[in-house]
Amino acid sequence: MEYQSTRSTQTASPREAVLRGIAPDGGLYLLPHMEALSFDWQACLKQNFLGAANEILSALLPDIGGMEDLVRRAYTGRFETPEIAPLVPVGEDYVLELFHGPTAAFKDVALSMLPQLLSAARAQTGDSAETAILTATSGDTGKAALEGFRDIPGTQILVFYPSEGVSPIQQAQMVTQEGRNVTVCAVRGNFDDCQRGVKEAFAALPREALRRAGVELSSANSINIGRLAPQIPYYFTAYRALLDRGAVGLGDPVDFVVPTGNFGDILAGYLAKALGLPVGRLICASNSNRVLTDFLTTGRYDSRRPFLKTSSPSMDILVSSNLERLLFLASGGDSAAVAGWMDRLGKQGAYEVPKGVLARIQEDFSAYFCDEAQTTATIGEVWRAHRYLIDPHTAVAFSAARQDRQARKSRGPRVILSTASAFKFPEPVLRGLGAEAEGDAFDQMDALASLTGQPVPGSLAGLREKPRLHRDCIGREEIVPYIRKRLGLEDAV
Ligand SMILES: *Cc1c(COP(=O)(O)O)cnc(C)c1O
Repeated sequence: MEYQSTRSTQTASPREAVLRGIAPDGGLYLLPHMEALSFDWQACLKQNFLGAANEILSALLPDIGGMEDLVRRAYTGRFETPEIAPLVPVGEDYVLELFHGPTAAFKDVALSMLPQLLSAARAQTGDSAETAILTATSGDTGKAALEGFRDIPGTQILVFYPSEGVSPIQQAQMVTQEGRNVTVCAVRGNFDDCQRGVKEAFAALPREALRRAGVELSSANSINIGRLAPQIPYYFTAYRALLDRGAVGLGDPVDFVVPTGNFGDILAGYLAKALGLPVGRLICASNSNRVLTDFLTTGRYDSRRPFLKTSSPSMDILVSSNLERLLFLASGGDSAAVAGWMDRLGKQGAYEVPKGVLARIQEDFSAYFCDEAQTTATIGEVWRAHRYLIDPHTAVAFSAARQDRQARKSRGPRVILSTASAFKFPEPVLRGLGAEAEGDAFDQMDALASLTGQPVPGSLAGLREKPRLHRDCIGREEIVPYIRKRLGLEDAV
């Protein structure tokens, strides 16, 4: 079984795909015919989270051995809830809570698993090179990756975040990170600048030269299939929880509403569907950076627009990497076409797909956006109606869910993915609840706890006192030289 690049006919074994992160031609690795796998989705629905993760990852990454152990090691003792991702009823919908991990955001689910997959793949290929993980973050990936990779033997992790683009709590989480193998660096620019810099590093540091220096680069972003695949299991466990409650019958399609930035989380839902899960529509929720809403309704992707900073910073993205995988699948595996669109995106900032491709995408996806005023209002409305506290990213999804009900007059239970704890973004949440946001972010976190009677998550509670260990801040054009220097490659590559 071979993974294929989205931009050419280059292939890689599952292990290689995980180790490389991105294909040498700049494309993303994908299994071209996932629906052809003999995967027993109904058996998978009988499993709990760990069991489902084991079955799905074993099917998608069959050459990585000992998966059951890897899964157990990844999740045991790291999440505050035994279910990992509990499903809770809120009004007529259900919320899939993905934020009970060590950094209080959904990226913990995948980034607890990825280090295990990488270490195993490396050990099992007999590879002695050190893996250097390069990560661009809009806020949540960075911390979750740092937690996942800290002190994992044979790895180093380098995280780049936009200096003005993350919330104060997110920044505090990253600059206080401990661990012998971690580097955290601010970049004067936005997330897209960070992501571009990291992608440039993959191109600028050729693999062969790196190997001679004993280093292999990889990525913790959802461009890595080893990061994307561990996001599939919670679609299965959410469906299973609906079955257990009698909310749906086996085979009934269920819509999922996903707050979206880099298109990884929602693409995992599409891959769950390819594995057989009865997913209905995937509803893509964007904030004011509505580039995906526009694309999914018109077929024209145009990143040439102002980059807006919103209260849901993890979704402030104008170039959504994983859309490339959807384009590949929806165009019937036309890697030449995908390479052309990505080339145009790089050079001109925009591209347009043919009507047939758009139509195929629209069979599965709907899209809505939610501006800042609506986001704040939604936080207040959901709290008043249900005494349920949501963060701004989740609020964007609630707004999209409501818009979709009105637009399609749809019925039936839906699952709204909740991607972060409200305590990570206390300022906009307090405003949403109609309260004053005074003092610094830590004061606001405490104010939110006393206003709502809900506890601050353990991982955020001690942050104020932790020493700031990482102070580097560089320009966006310095990312590649900085990486060279940190990895000791100045002479080698
Ligand atoms: C990363 C993130 C998202 C967006 O997920 P993608 O996979 O990038 O689409 C949404 N909400 C939160 C809180 C996040 O951290």
